[in-house]
Amino acid sequence: MTTPPEKTTIFVDASSLKKIACGLRFYRNNLEGLKLKAIHNYKMAYGTAFHKFLQNYYNGALAEDACIQIALDYFTPHATQLPEDAWHTGTHLRKSLESYAQTYPRGGDGIEVAKDTEGKPKTECKFALPFWNNTTHQIVLSGTIDLDGTYYGTPCLIDHKTTSSLPQFSKSFFEGYDMDIQTMFYTWIAKTFLGHADWPAILINGIFLKRPTQKAAKLEIFDGVNLERSGLITYTDEQMKRFEGWLMRKLEEIKGMITQTPQPEYSACKQSFGLCEYWKLCRASADLETDLKTMHYEKTSYNPLTFQD
Ligand code: SF4
Repeated sequence: MTTPPEKTTIFVDASSLKKIACGLRFYRNNLEGLKLKAIHNYKMAYGTAFHKFLQNYYNGALAEDACIQIALDYFTPHATQLPEDAWHTGTHLRKSLESYAQTYPRGGDGIEVAKDTEGKPKTECKFALPFWNNTTHQIVLSGTIDLDGTYYGTPCLIDHKTTSSLPQFSKSFFEGYDMDIQTMFYTWIAKTFLGHADWPAILINGIFLKRPTQKAAKLEIFDGVNLERSGLITYTDEQMKRFEGWLMRKLEEIKGMITQTPQPEYSACKQSFGLCEYWKLCRASADLETDLKTMHYEKTSYNPLTFQD
């Protein structure tokens, strides 16, 4: 008896859904698994380290110092070859984490973490939900919810966002999440699959990072982080119904990509070939595409559940 070949899994998460305005971009990212050859990204590592701190901080099992140390241990190898003018340093990270703990003392910042059926805190909740399959492929809805719990008693999902956006633009930063694919996707997933009785609210836990000023340093004050949270973002049944309709149409498009490569959607490029990571391929003639793929991209299986930074 022969073993049937393993099915190819197409992971669909919020960040890849944001690319789907151009089907070809989604196809290259999720189905072809093409990504730009690794460039050392210490800023992303900084963000991941902050997330590791927050996970342990809200889990509540470790002392605050130990939570900080876990983040620093993760970041240290990424900080060995920083550019000369970089300010995302280990010291900056430590001071930012200390500021966070001072501003939002555990148990006193409104955030209560829910527990799962085994009593484990619901932080960094990964989900991988089989949604559809045929003989060769399966579509799995996936992602990571940073924290599932309550905020001052209101059930909500909390998303930690480290950003270099300037704190004075925090209002527009938060407004960007009002009708965001990620917030709507997580809300929809939480009620449809994860046992929430109603659409949970979303809270964006904003961590605005910046270069510390010399003026503050002279006064021995650290001003390299501003901490601010969004209001609770909520959706009506009607909005969720419309989102679900959009999502189902996109999932149909993704099924179609299994047999037919999508055409480029140039109107989705924010400027001509400006902002999508695949512009080199779209600009080149077909006979150069293979060479360009080898030169600039590496092939992986797109799996958001394995992302570290
Ligand atoms: S460069 Fe434009 S057309 Fe090409 S994949 Fe990116 S978004 Fe699509």
